[in-house]
Parts: sequence; structure tokens; C-alpha cells
Amino acid sequence: MFEKIVIANRGEIALRILRACRELGIKTVAVYSEADRDLKHVRLADEAVCIGPAASAGSYLNIPAIISAAEVTDAEAIHPGYGFLSENADFSEKVSQSGFVFIGPRPDTIRMMGDKIAAKKAMQAAGIPCVPGNGDPLGEDEETNLKMAREIGYPVIIKAAGGGGGRGMRTVHTESALLNAIAMTKAEAGTAFGNSTVYMEKFLEDPRHIEFQVLADSHGNAIHLGERDCSMQRRHQKVVEEAPAPGITEEQRKQMGERCALACQEIGYLGAGTFEFLYEKGQFYFIEMNTRVQVEHPVTEMITGFDIVKEQLRIAAGEPLSITQEQVKFTGHAIECRLNAEDPKTFMPSPGVIDQFHMPGGPGIRCETHIYNGYKVPPYYDSMIGKLIAHGDDRASAIARMKTALSEMVIDGIKTNIPLQQSIMADAAFAQGGQNIHYLEKKLGIH
Ligand code: ADP
Repeated sequence: MFEKIVIANRGEIALRILRACRELGIKTVAVYSEADRDLKHVRLADEAVCIGPAASAGSYLNIPAIISAAEVTDAEAIHPGYGFLSENADFSEKVSQSGFVFIGPRPDTIRMMGDKIAAKKAMQAAGIPCVPGNGDPLGEDEETNLKMAREIGYPVIIKAAGGGGGRGMRTVHTESALLNAIAMTKAEAGTAFGNSTVYMEKFLEDPRHIEFQVLADSHGNAIHLGERDCSMQRRHQKVVEEAPAPGITEEQRKQMGERCALACQEIGYLGAGTFEFLYEKGQFYFIEMNTRVQVEHPVTEMITGFDIVKEQLRIAAGEPLSITQEQVKFTGHAIECRLNAEDPKTFMPSPGVIDQFHMPGGPGIRCETHIYNGYKVPPYYDSMIGKLIAHGDDRASAIARMKTALSEMVIDGIKTNIPLQQSIMADAAFAQGGQNIHYLEKKLGIH
């Protein structure tokens, strides 16, 4: 196992990684921006290095500064967390070239998954069901493109190969709009991603978002830890996540989970990863693979009793997976509410000083946050300030526990989305389970 690693992230995930390291006896180096001196994990880490200004371009995205921090502290590995450089193939490559271990997949895997066309092709080849549409780059020939759309059937979606974060996509409902939509998506993709390659697939109208968690080691072993439902979204941002996904049968879980694990073995995947699917009318359609730990990993941990971050560290250190597929058991139901420093109605970010913070507790409650009394939420980064996770014997008891925990939680001084989360937990359709990805925006009156 490593003796010392650098945590190249901030906020709750940096604290989560630090805790996993402490349990495994690994020393930690926190790297932080000038705006983040007071972060909780910076205080708790064995060493801390300031890597640049508040703006993340000069700090959390500053590859040479992060690698230098590993050099001066004599660390062995770098954990990228999520966001920032976690899915940057050049970063993982430079980390390895500088003699450190990148805690995540190999650079070529990250690069492949960052290209939607390459990812779709690899998944098709590995037997993962994909959205209808062959995934080939669209050429200039208008007749060919019109014919392809007719064969797929409207509506179709034009997607940029290099797109990300919900950008670089355009839905087309009628033939008369197709050619113009292709031209516009190409032009935008060229400007935004430096790659104007686009492709076409079927647009699924009312899908749910269901994803599978996988883990693969360097000895050729791969397992899945079941699925999560992340359909409660606003502007493609997840708001609530849960595991297991309502209505998914044990048979579906086993079949899809095993396919994902097998695909990991075929592509030589390393570490923790997530296969994201749209799920409609009983069918799964692959949309992308995330090559990192996800915000919502705790719901899987709560129903499996398994620590995904510790396993990432073990895998990166070259150890074999600590459990087999047969040892993975699912118990009860878990729900996660993301906590954001924002206005619950307008969604405007609400940075500032937290004058009072009371953390909820009780059976089945887990609170992942770096905030504390007097902590100042900086305006420079994502507005997520933590996550509340509730586990219960079944979905209804997980919701009941979440409601109790939300009502106990006090965060004063800034606005938070706690009222929004309370209204979701009290929602009759949410209580039924299985709503699609448009449900929350419809409830909020956004169309
Ligand atoms: P990104 O990398 O930008 O997040 P994704 O491929 O994961 O792109 O898609 C983001 C979101 O766009 C999905 O969660 C879904 O809401 C929507 N989307 C993508 N492809 C389709 C599709 N074929 N049909 C319907 N919605 C889609």
C-alpha cells in the first residue's frame, strides 16, 4: 500500500478521500487554492501545499503545480476525486510520466471514454446495448444523413464526439430541420471543443437515468456493485440519487451488471467506474462511462457495506479486488440528497459565511460535508457543499429517514436547496419511484 498520496481536489470529496487514507494508514497531502486555506481536509491532512490562486485554472486545474506538490512532499500517488482533472487523460499521463501513480484508469481508457464516438464503438464491440444509431461520424453527404435519420426514426439527436457536461447536443423532430441542425452542432462543437465531429442517434423521449458501478483491478478481475437511479435532475445535473433503482429486477441487475463487468475486462479497465444508461420501456441504452469516483457513490456503499474509495486506493497500489462478485450483497435502500449553496427557487449560487451548522444524525444517516460553523463558502467553485445519505430497510423507510434528517439539519447564513430537497421527499410521484429524467423540471415548472 502507498505511504503517502496527494489529494488533488477540494470540498467533501477531498475529505472523503482523506478519511479512506487514514483508515488504510496512508499519509495525505492536501493541495489547495488561496481561497481554500480553511477547508476542513487541509487542516486534517498530514501536509498541505498551496498550488495557486482561487481561480481553478491556476490551481485545481494546474497540472505542473499539482505534480510539483507530489514531488516536494515525496508522495507516491495522486487521487483526482471527481470533476477538475479527474477525467483528463493528459493529466493522468503526465502523472505517470513523472513517476507517480494516477489513482484511476489508464490514460488511453480515459481518452477513449472522453470521445463519445470511440466510447460508443468500444461499448458496442463489448456487447453493451447502445442507443440506436451506428455512431459513425456524420459526413457531408446530405442524402446519406437524411436517410440515416429516416432509418433511425425521428426524433433524433445530433451529438458532438467531444461534447461534455450536457453541451454539444441538438434534438431534431422533423426532417426539414435535420441538415441545419447538423451544420449548427458541427460549428458549435468546433468552437467549444476544438473538434467538429458529430454523430446521430435516436432521441429517447422519456427515459430514466440508471447507472452501474464497477470496479476492476490490474489482475483481470472485474465486479459490479449494482445500479443507481439518478433521474431526479435539473439541467442535466443530478439532484437526488438512489440505489437500488425502483422496479429493476434482480435478473436485470445481474444481467446488465455482469455485462458491464465483462466489458471492463475486455477494455482493460482499471479502478472504479460507472456505466451510465438511459432506461426506457424496459431497455438499457449506454450513454457514457465515467472513469472516476462519482458524487453519488455513497448510496452504493450504503446498500453494499463496501468502501469504494478504499478499493480505488488498493487497486491503484496493485492489489487484487478485496471481494468477489458472489460476496456482493445488497441490503435495503439508500437515497442521497445533494446539498447546494443556492437559492432553492432561483438556483442562484449563495456563497458566504455559515454562522450555524447542525448536522443531522440517527440510524441510517450519513452526512458527507466539509462545512462547519464559521466556514466561508467561496464563490469560485461548484455550489455543492455536501450530501446527505439515508439508508433504510426499504425505500419508504429511507425516505422517512431522509425527511427526518432534512428537518433536523440547520445551515444558517447562506441559502441552501434544503427546501427543494424537502419538497422532493414529500412528493407523491417521487414516493412511487421510477420517474423519468424530465420529472423534476416539470414539477419545478421548467420546460
Ligand atoms: P455529457 O457528456 O454532455 O453529459 P451524455 O451523453 O451523458 O453527455 O448526455 C447527457 C444528457 O443528455 C443525458 O443524461 C440525457 O438527458 C441527454 N441525452 C443524451 N443522449 C440522449 C438520447 N439519445 N436521447 C435522449 N436524451 C439524451
